[in-house]
Amino acid sequence: MKLVRDINQIKRLMRQKEEEDWGFRTFLKTCGIPAKKIDNIVHRLYEKISPMIDCATCGNCCTEILPIVKETDVTNMASGLKMRSDDFKKKYLVKANDTAGYTFNSNPCPFLVKNRCTVYNFRPDDCRSFPHLHKDDFTSRSISVIHNCSICPIVYNVYEKLKHKVWAMDVFDDSH
Ligand code: SF4
Ligand code: SF4
Repeated sequence: MKLVRDINQIKRLMRQKEEEDWGFRTFLKTCGIPAKKIDNIVHRLYEKISPMIDCATCGNCCTEILPIVKETDVTNMASGLKMRSDDFKKKYLVKANDTAGYTFNSNPCPFLVKNRCTVYNFRPDDCRSFPHLHKDDFTSRSISVIHNCSICPIVYNVYEKLKHKVWAMDVFDDSH
């Protein structure tokens, strides 16, 4: 299966595959394959696919997603930019709706310049962690995974490969 890298093509495909994607989520939750096994497959797919997609020519997460910026991120970023934390907050942040943290006050991110992160060495943890496919509990996070499929080519391709792999899997075979 070829990788799809073009985000506009991915958005079109996601509209076409909406029913299939939600159906697969239901399958994952009910098929009896242990969550740990799904995590292992996702981790392996992520390790294989992420080096094949160039973030420097994409930058779409920084354009479409507002990351959570915690107090520790504020301290790091303000220090990196040689600013006082209060001034940094006033200039770049707003309170995030559903967490104790902040987020950037503009979208695309104010630090994205020509598809590059200009604060890469002191970017927030939430940015470092994106697209979160190295984490455990993939199945319980699958709503946000499906949302991220139409934003991030890495997530889209991992989810597509996962569908092919798991739907072909004998759920009673422990050798996977
Ligand atoms: S801080 Fe950097 S990595 Fe995070 S959203 Fe902004 S440009 Fe992207
Ligand atoms: S993490 Fe995904 S959305 Fe962000 S730049 Fe890389 S490929 Fe694009």
